[in-house]
Amino acid sequence: MNNVAIHPIVDSGYRATDASFAGGTLVCNCTSNPVKVRVKGDIAHNHACGCTKCWKPKGAVFSVVAVAPTANVEVLENGNKLAVVDASALIQRHACNECGVHMYGPVERDHAFQGLSFVHPERFQEKGWAAPGFAAFVSSIIESGYDPGKMGAVRSRLKEVGLEPYDCLSPGLMDFIATWTAKKMGVLAA
Ligand SMILES: [Zn+2]
Ligand SMILES: [Zn+2]
Repeated sequence: MNNVAIHPIVDSGYRATDASFAGGTLVCNCTSNPVKVRVKGDIAHNHACGCTKCWKPKGAVFSVVAVAPTANVEVLENGNKLAVVDASALIQRHACNECGVHMYGPVERDHAFQGLSFVHPERFQEKGWAAPGFAAFVSSIIESGYDPGKMGAVRSRLKEVGLEPYDCLSPGLMDFIATWTAKKMGVLAA
């Protein structure tokens, strides 16, 4: 065991407790008038992400982020506090303009992920959602200032907690994107 911090959810040994988790309500960090976003059904592809764009709780090295169909995502309360962080980005991350938490990030443009929204399941007020299954964009934590000399310790810690480290997305998701692209190009039959 080493003590390299990844994210509170990972460091505390979170395990999904409810195989029949049917969704819940994401709540931002505001003590008054929090933004609430309902997600119907369980999340998919939950993972730790080292990129510089995903929202992370204070002090966390990685984010924990998953997807849900955008059709299953609905803003319930205080949506007037939401603003898109970077309108030019693939993921339209909607953040609370008071506390900064990213509440949901739909992919609207023509892309393999079109129709999906990225969400941070730790913001669910309920428990039971699927645990993270891998770590993406691990090398990118250096871009946030992480010591490059400690990357070996980070990767071994991720493996120790069952999160295979990748420097892009997982092979399954990379194959999914490449398949979508190949079909769009006409290289593979649609
Ligand atoms: Zn907030
Ligand atoms: Zn990310």
